[in-house]
Amino acid sequence: MTGTVTTPMRGVMGPEGLDALVRSLAGRGYRVVGPLARGGVIVYDDLASADELPAGWTEVQDAATYRLERRDDEARFGYPVGPHSWKQFLLPARVRLWQARRRDGDAPEIVEESPPDRPFAFVGVRSCDLHAIAVQDRVLLEGTYVDRDYAARREGAFLVAVNCGTPGGTCFCTSMGTGPRAESGYDLALTEILEQEHRFLVEAGSKRGAEVLAELGAHPATEEDVEAARRVTDDAAHRMGRQVEAGDLRDLLARNVENPRFTAVAERCLTCGNCTLVCPTCFCTSVDDVNVLAGDAAKRWRRWDSCYSVDYSYIHGGSVRPSSRARYRQWLTHKFGTWVDQFGTSGCVGCGRCITWCPVGIDVTEELTAIRATDGEVDSAHA
Ligand code: SF4
Ligand code: SF4
Repeated sequence: MTGTVTTPMRGVMGPEGLDALVRSLAGRGYRVVGPLARGGVIVYDDLASADELPAGWTEVQDAATYRLERRDDEARFGYPVGPHSWKQFLLPARVRLWQARRRDGDAPEIVEESPPDRPFAFVGVRSCDLHAIAVQDRVLLEGTYVDRDYAARREGAFLVAVNCGTPGGTCFCTSMGTGPRAESGYDLALTEILEQEHRFLVEAGSKRGAEVLAELGAHPATEEDVEAARRVTDDAAHRMGRQVEAGDLRDLLARNVENPRFTAVAERCLTCGNCTLVCPTCFCTSVDDVNVLAGDAAKRWRRWDSCYSVDYSYIHGGSVRPSSRARYRQWLTHKFGTWVDQFGTSGCVGCGRCITWCPVGIDVTEELTAIRATDGEVDSAHA
């Protein structure tokens, strides 16, 4: 985001303004990505026009439960978040980092991957996911080591936030202080207002956001529009599917590493890693080097990995987390505890994806509440 604006510039437009938005972003050279209903889920993919938005669809979510349902209106953003997150574009599941070719009598030629040809414009970024992008920025851009591939993909990305009016059954952003209203980190923020006339309040959060807003044919926003938009997020905040007491989680987990709840949850956990793959902040990766049989060329690929994989914690002689109990504990205590020590923020933004997409319905809010209820208890079989 460039040139933050201090006084938000606002406008109001009808649903047809969304097509002007997609055209404006594409015309400015962005690769426009947004939500589509495809294959029974809401996915994020290239948007050719606003007609592809999932008009009239919503998601029903609970632990290990997800389905699309028709709404009784034509809301374009009337669902919470699906299995995809913006991570798949900024930190793709598999990416080639470089390839090398042997040259006779000379050093091998190493060709690094080119950066993307166009910056991204993400349309429909929820507040929880704005926070998730900020968390990954902190890890991959703002620490000692900068991830070059992430930096190239993140460079110049234009973020169109959508203030959430439809929280899901597994959402708990209000507990984590990450939503449902986008407060910063966006270029434009939309609030979809369905009462009376179907319209969008559009607010610019950056100079270039204001430039795009000026092209959308929006009318000046009235106080009534601003109040109606405020009601959308106020109502959403009261309809969160889940809640968790989050203020002291770091300390709670630090003193409960031998809590019996870890043994109980390990009896259900399949260590499949789904929760880490759908999580918008999880960033663990491994690299695979692939050589051709002739021995004259090689490629290095990076792929998502997971703390639930036994190989991921393999150190000479074996894994340091050989049991599912150890791996679940690592995930939970890192996400909500030691992440704070490392990066100064929680690793969880309350999006609920890990609850929805856990095949056995393990619910992080339930686990944290159970640990709090048994604070200080020790599983003597493992201590
Ligand atoms: S908590 Fe659920 S999603 Fe995560 S590894 Fe265990 S079974 Fe898989
Ligand atoms: S831990 Fe779960 S709820 Fe938290 S950000 Fe990751 S997927 Fe979302």
